[in-house]
Amino acid sequence: MQMMRVPTVVLLLVAAVACAKPTPPAPAAEAARPDPLPGTRLSVDQLKSQMFHVSAGKRLKPAWPNGARIAVGLSFDVDNATATLSTGNLDYEVLSRGEYGAIDGLPRLLRMLDRQQVPASFFIPAASAVLHPVVISDIQSAKQAHEIGVHGWIHERLPLLNNEQEEQRLLNLSIETLTKMTGKRPVGYRAPSWKFSGWTMGQVKAAGFLYDSSLMASDDAYEILLDGSPTGIVELPIERILDDAPYFGSNADGSNPSVGDVYEVFQSEFDVAYDEGGLFLLTMHPHMMGHRSRAAMLERLVQYIKGKPGVWFATHEQIANHVKPLIAAK
Ligand SMILES: [Zn+2]
Repeated sequence: MQMMRVPTVVLLLVAAVACAKPTPPAPAAEAARPDPLPGTRLSVDQLKSQMFHVSAGKRLKPAWPNGARIAVGLSFDVDNATATLSTGNLDYEVLSRGEYGAIDGLPRLLRMLDRQQVPASFFIPAASAVLHPVVISDIQSAKQAHEIGVHGWIHERLPLLNNEQEEQRLLNLSIETLTKMTGKRPVGYRAPSWKFSGWTMGQVKAAGFLYDSSLMASDDAYEILLDGSPTGIVELPIERILDDAPYFGSNADGSNPSVGDVYEVFQSEFDVAYDEGGLFLLTMHPHMMGHRSRAAMLERLVQYIKGKPGVWFATHEQIANHVKPLIAAK
């Protein structure tokens, strides 16, 4: 077939028009949804019931123990390869990247925490502990008294599971498995990927958890409301900017080469929390933060924080127990 010849002037004109009026990227995924803007047709009452199904109640900002200015809680989600396995992805490059958390990541972080003498909370998908029981024995044989909390069975994304009975079965299985393996019933809950279904908060409340750490409506701890009613459950809020995953995991996949940038964000967040007399909580993952350069960066941050007077390093359980009496206080 003979190629059609297009005069250069026409090509330039087309290019000029294209530059002057860039086409917005097509929001393919959103447009493909059958009803992309259902919220526009809801009444205020309907909006309220959606907005406040799970929401922030009373602010729980106490005086910290022993006159401390700030409470600092380091948390690690020991996901390893479970999120990958939950989706049926058997790409061993990805699975082995997760397994690194059990083999080298977690031990390195535990050695660092022992060196710095600070405790941490470990949220573990129960299947992650079953596949690599060493993660439990490593945590329990550390010099520091660390906490172990629930993080789903196999890091199942609950909105994707979309099944009340199945969600309840997996929650029960997670609690039973961790209780059996650790010798203690966990008191802390963190939803896999921080994602709740419409049933999650009700099931977490019924299971009697002391606290949740999956939501981010405040910088301070708060009581969770369920359909507007107080639950008695403490929220220890997380934040994406205080998480290693957006910088080192998933889409980043190592594309952020500068651990210094992450250090700067974490330290700046700590500095303001310190000025405010607040709470500073980090979420990290052994298969991401446990790499050499990153664990070294975290140790540098811990040393910086320890250099400030009046810092209370505590497990999430200790912090939740400390703030919980404020729920009942007038
Ligand atoms: Zn996780």
